[in-house]
Amino acid sequence: MEKPKVLAIANQKGGVGKSTTVYNLGAGLVMEGKKVLLLDVDPQGDLTKMLGQRKPHDLPLSLANVMNDITAGTMPRGHPEIMRHHEGFDFVPGNRGLTAVEVGLVNVMSRETVLKQYVDSVKKNYDYVLLDCRPALGMLVINALAAADYVLIPVQADYLAADAMTELVGTVQSVRRHINPKLKIGGVFLTMASETNFRRDTVAAIREEFGKHLPVLNTVIPATVRLAEVSTADKSIFLHDPKGAGTNAYRSLTKEVLAIGSKQRSRTAEIGR
Ligand code: ADP
Ligand code: MG
Repeated sequence: MEKPKVLAIANQKGGVGKSTTVYNLGAGLVMEGKKVLLLDVDPQGDLTKMLGQRKPHDLPLSLANVMNDITAGTMPRGHPEIMRHHEGFDFVPGNRGLTAVEVGLVNVMSRETVLKQYVDSVKKNYDYVLLDCRPALGMLVINALAAADYVLIPVQADYLAADAMTELVGTVQSVRRHINPKLKIGGVFLTMASETNFRRDTVAAIREEFGKHLPVLNTVIPATVRLAEVSTADKSIFLHDPKGAGTNAYRSLTKEVLAIGSKQRSRTAEIGR
């Protein structure tokens, strides 16, 4: 088995498709024979809801509990917080308990690496660990970046704010410099692309804008009703609409993610440094 890869899906803007991507990419990786763990690192618990746990705040065990255990110096045995999804991956739910965790981290030694300690303790059982980040650049996101090998950045096609991108990349660089030297940008990709901005020339324009500094993936995720429905369907797009455009897009993203870190892509990945 290859070394497990830890990917943080991050963008400080909300509603760009982070959680939707974590779910569908996770399901896509399982279909490629990979062992996958998803972590909901967002106090809103959106991913947890998408995965069928409609009341994330009522769950007795969540990522908040294990992060609290780590800061208290007591790592739980047996990992009862890890849940099984019917599509073949595991996940750890997240909920508003993470808000208190984030606030409390200020007073903790090694506060940037609490999540990393947890990820390192479970990742040996997986090929991929995907971290669903909250829409912010606070301590929970820093923890996710500190735990990750790669960051994937979904950007909404209609909202290509270069300033926001500069801020996010600045945070990534700062984490790399001070906490996690092996962190790389795995790629930026377009989400929620409508018919008009799905066109090749738009993608080319984005590659022109960001491509000098960042690896831009070829996959463009379209805005579709079927993809919007995934958040309440209890099915990934692969089961919800197997022949649709959303499935094609997330299959393509899965293939590109599988290639990240392999030799043929290592040159582009370096550009993100
Ligand atoms: P984030 O995690 O970045 O906040 P979400 O994945 O929760 O974003 O997506 C925000 C909203 O947009 C959700 O209601 C989701 O169902 C919807 N959505 C996500 N991706 C798409 C898409 N490609 N097309 C249409 N709707 C989408
Ligand atoms: Mg989300």
